[in-house]
Amino acid sequence: MRLALHRVPMALVLVALFAATAARAAEVRFERVADSVYAFIGEMGARTPANEGLNANVGLVITPAGALLIDGGATFEGARQIHEAVRRVTTQPVRWVINTGGRDHRWLGNGYFQAQGAELIAHAGAEADMRDRGNDQLQALRAVLGPKADGTAPTLPTRWLRGRDERLDLGGVVVELKHRGGAHTPGDTIVWLPAQRVLFSGDVIYVDRLLGVLPMSRTKAWLDTFAAIEALNPERIVPGHGRVCSLDRHGARPVTI
Ligand SMILES: [Zn+2]
Repeated sequence: MRLALHRVPMALVLVALFAATAARAAEVRFERVADSVYAFIGEMGARTPANEGLNANVGLVITPAGALLIDGGATFEGARQIHEAVRRVTTQPVRWVINTGGRDHRWLGNGYFQAQGAELIAHAGAEADMRDRGNDQLQALRAVLGPKADGTAPTLPTRWLRGRDERLDLGGVVVELKHRGGAHTPGDTIVWLPAQRVLFSGDVIYVDRLLGVLPMSRTKAWLDTFAAIEALNPERIVPGHGRVCSLDRHGARPVTI
């Protein structure tokens, strides 16, 4: 049967098209984790055009002087959608993006945020991995996302941290970064907010799915990173993948405070 489109009112066609698009697009929405601290919990499945490759979690901290993102998405377009979601939470500009590791969804959105004037921060342990695999990861994303990966270019951080334990003051908020030699990727770094007792683990902790152990993973250092997390005794953990949780409690339901 051929659909006689010319007989269907145009408004109905537009509604149908909009509904189809809305159903396919994954919405980026930040949930509150603590005072001025938010997380977007990405889908648990694979990268798809519908989720823009954003199958990972992203953190947001609002400071009096600007917004801090913890990870910036996998593509230019995905980063733009993250930014739109930030704007629904705060009018503050995104001034800093921390890349917690070398996996695509941690840093390939950097180009977008650099164009917005953000400083891009990562541990120097990530640099060689980012340089080695940036283009390969982008090619793999292009194969899955097609034109949705357009505009994306591997954009390295502009500020490299070198210590095992680094303490930053970002807009009056203390942010600590700890690197124990990597985990899922060599640059994996945990981000700790001591005042809020919230930990962003990046690809060190996965909840609701198996850990991703890859050829470039550092399994011994991974255990050292787990020990560092245990020593911090965080109240809330925003894992790299999966729901917000704590050390002793799996995120069986969304956390509400
Ligand atoms: Zn990941």
